[in-house]
Amino acid sequence: MDKKEDKLKEVISHAKEYGYVFPSSEIYDGLTATYDYGQLGAELKNNIKNYWWTAMVQMNEEIVGLDAAIFMHPKTWQASGHTEAFNDPMIDNKDSKKRYRADVLVEEHIEKYRDKIKKDVAKGKKRFGDDFDEVQFLATNPNVKRSQDKIDALEAQLTEILESDDLSALKGMIEELGIACPVAGSKNWTDVRQFNLMFSTELGSVAGDAAKIYLRPETAQGIFVNFGNVQKTSRLKVPFGIAQIGKAFRNEIVARQFIFRMREFEQMEMQYFVRPGEELKWYEYWKEKRNKWHKALGLGEEFYRDHNHIKLAHYANAASDIEFDFPMGFKELEGIHSRTDFDLKKHEEFSGKKLQFFDPELNKNYVPYVIETSVGLDRMFLAVFSAALKNETLEDGSERVVLSIPPALAPYKVAVMPLTKKDGLPDKAREIIDELKFDFNCQYDEKDSIGKRYRRQDAIGTPYHVTVDHQTLEDNTVTIRDRDTMEQVRVAITDLHGIIDEKVSMKKLLKMG
Ligand code: ATP
Repeated sequence: MDKKEDKLKEVISHAKEYGYVFPSSEIYDGLTATYDYGQLGAELKNNIKNYWWTAMVQMNEEIVGLDAAIFMHPKTWQASGHTEAFNDPMIDNKDSKKRYRADVLVEEHIEKYRDKIKKDVAKGKKRFGDDFDEVQFLATNPNVKRSQDKIDALEAQLTEILESDDLSALKGMIEELGIACPVAGSKNWTDVRQFNLMFSTELGSVAGDAAKIYLRPETAQGIFVNFGNVQKTSRLKVPFGIAQIGKAFRNEIVARQFIFRMREFEQMEMQYFVRPGEELKWYEYWKEKRNKWHKALGLGEEFYRDHNHIKLAHYANAASDIEFDFPMGFKELEGIHSRTDFDLKKHEEFSGKKLQFFDPELNKNYVPYVIETSVGLDRMFLAVFSAALKNETLEDGSERVVLSIPPALAPYKVAVMPLTKKDGLPDKAREIIDELKFDFNCQYDEKDSIGKRYRRQDAIGTPYHVTVDHQTLEDNTVTIRDRDTMEQVRVAITDLHGIIDEKVSMKKLLKMG
C-alpha cells in the first residue's frame, strides 16, 4: 500500500473514531459511498458553512442568499441541458466487473507524468542543495521536458476527443496507452458508453399519474430560476450575486475516496450577475477572491493550485478549478466558471418569461452574464480535516495525534477540566462554562488523567484546554493550554473570554479573505 492510501485510511478511521464521520446506516453494513456526519462532524460542517456564508453574504452588500427547494419543475433540467447532456463516459472492465469513468482513467495516467516531474525536482534539490533553481530546472532538464511534452500531447488529444464526444476514440486512447484495470490488472475493456448522472423519482402518490422529477444535480438552477424574484424584491443592480448552500445529487459512476465523491453531497454556490462583456474581468476577480478565502484558513499555500480547464462545458467561456492536495493527491475543490448568459437565456426560452435587467446607466435591457463559484462542502470538510490531521513526535520522544483545525472552524473552542473530581473543582469548572457557553462551544471533561484528557482534546481539535485546580479556588486563576504549541500559562478567569475570542474569532479570516 502506498503512502497516499495510508493517509486516506488514517483520515477515515480518525474521523470515525472521534465522531466526525460514520458510514451511513452502518448497523445494516452501510450503503456504498454514503456517509453520516457525527456529533463533531456536524459542528465542523456548520462552521465551514458559516465561514462561507458570512464571507459571501455578510461581507458583500451586493450579495444575498436564498434557499431553494431540491425538487424543481422538470423543464428546468431540459432548459439547463442536464436531461440531454449531463453524462459521463463510462467503461467496464470485463474481468473485475468494475466500472470507471473513461476520461478519469486517462487523466490518472497523465498524472503519473506529473508525479515523475515532482520526483525529478526532488532529486535535483537533493543534488544541488542551496544552489538549486527550480524554475531553471523545470525549463531546462531534459527528463522534465520529455514528461511535460507527453502531458501536453495527451491533454490535447483528450480535449479533442471529449469535445467531439468521440467515444470509440476514447476507448482507443485507453488501449493505446495500455491502461489496465487497477483491480484486475487486465486490459479487457467494454466499449465506452454515456451515462446520465441525474437521479429521478416520481411526484405524487398515484404511480401511474405521477410525473417524473429529478433530484437537483446542482444548486445553481435554483438561483437562476429565482433571478427575477430576487432582483425585483431586493432592487439590487448589476453586478450582484445570489448565494446558496444546499444538497445536490449525482448518480456518480464511481463514487469513492471517502467523502470526496458521493452521490448525495452539499454545494456552496454563488452566481454573480454582470454586464455582458465584463465577465472575464469578474471571472479573474472571483478567482483571486476565492483563493484568498481558502488560503486565509492557514492550512498552507502548498496545498492549493489553480487548474485551468482544458475542456470547457457547453455553457462556459472560461473555467478554472482551485485544486487541493487531498490525501489522494491534487483534486478539484472548487470550480469557478464564466457561464455566459447561457442559463438565463435558456430559461427565458423554456419558460417564456423575461429574465433581464434594465441597466439605468446604459439605458437598456439585457440578459446578464454569470460568474459562478461552486465549492463542495464535503470536499472542504475533507480538505480541512486531512490537512489538519498530524502525527507529531514530541521532544521527549513521545507521540501525539493532533487535529490542528483552524480554530475558527473547530467544533469545540474550549475544553474545561477540573484537575480532580473532588473539592468543589467540578462546580468551579461548570461555573466557567456557564459564562463562556454563550459565545463558545465548550466541552466539560473530567474523566481520566489530565494528560489523557489533553491528548483527547488534541485529537478532536479543540484549540484551548482550561484546567481548574486548587489554586483556582484561592485566586480565581486557571491554566490555559494551547493545542498547537502545548504551552500552558496561568491566567485570570476574567481574561479567558478575551484570550479565546482573539484566537477563535472568524473576523481575522474574513479580513484576509
Ligand atoms: P468532478 O470533476 O470532480 O466530478 P465537477 O467538475 O463535476 O467535479 P462541479 O459540477 O463543478 O463539479 O461542482 C462544483 C463542486 O461541487 C465541485 O468543485 C466539488 O467540490 C463539488 N462536487 C461535485 N461533485 C461532487 C460529488 N460527487 N461529491 C462531493 N462533492 C462534489
